[in-house]
Amino acid sequence: MRYAFFSDIHGNLDALTAVLKAIEEDGKADKVLCVGDLVGYGAEPRECIAVIRELNCPVIAGNHDFAAAGRMQLDYFNALAREAIEWTTDTLEEEDKQFLWNLPLVWDDEESFVMVHGTLQDPSSFGYVLNDLDALLLFRDLRKDFCVTGHSHYPCSFVYGQKLVFSREPELTVEVGQRAIINVGSVGQPRDGDPRACLVFFDSEQRLIETQRIVYDVEEAARKIITAGLPEPLADRLLAGI
Ligand code: ZN
Repeated sequence: MRYAFFSDIHGNLDALTAVLKAIEEDGKADKVLCVGDLVGYGAEPRECIAVIRELNCPVIAGNHDFAAAGRMQLDYFNALAREAIEWTTDTLEEEDKQFLWNLPLVWDDEESFVMVHGTLQDPSSFGYVLNDLDALLLFRDLRKDFCVTGHSHYPCSFVYGQKLVFSREPELTVEVGQRAIINVGSVGQPRDGDPRACLVFFDSEQRLIETQRIVYDVEEAARKIITAGLPEPLADRLLAGI
């Protein structure tokens, strides 16, 4: 099976449209999956929800989804994120919030992977996998060969066999006997210094992870943030990819 994963759209319709077009142009994905955080930060949360609902693909909850739906306390977030969530909550219609509220925290694919926005330990606490220790803790709870995550907006993989290896290679093959945490980065607000949207293909037979970066109109997405009255730093960070 060839899977296409995308995560952390954050109300950025321009980036989402470009990523879905890239999946379509690739034409080889058997299944498309969304790793959460559809809303928050960006100016078009309703439009992003509509597009993803139309796709009818597996979607899991991100922290911003639950917060915007009123299912999570805002004290988890920094001031800038809180401001964006409050704006998003005001912008969404009741049916959007219902959809976000009902998203599952974990998607367990029958074949080879489990998908969670943050960590497996306690998915509703939305912890981060940022370093080797975080990764080892997740591997302890992982019953499959692969765990697909988002949340940090930083595409990378942790591969665990004889030892633990961190990788940012755009193409990575995971040997039989090894397991991997695949962070699929962010569509709508990358934070690795590359403003292009992030998309990951995964071939479960070849055990091959391919990370692609997709050019989209970042200036337009930033302009929409300003026009919507969202905090200006949210526009600036899109342009810088941070
Ligand atoms: Zn996010």
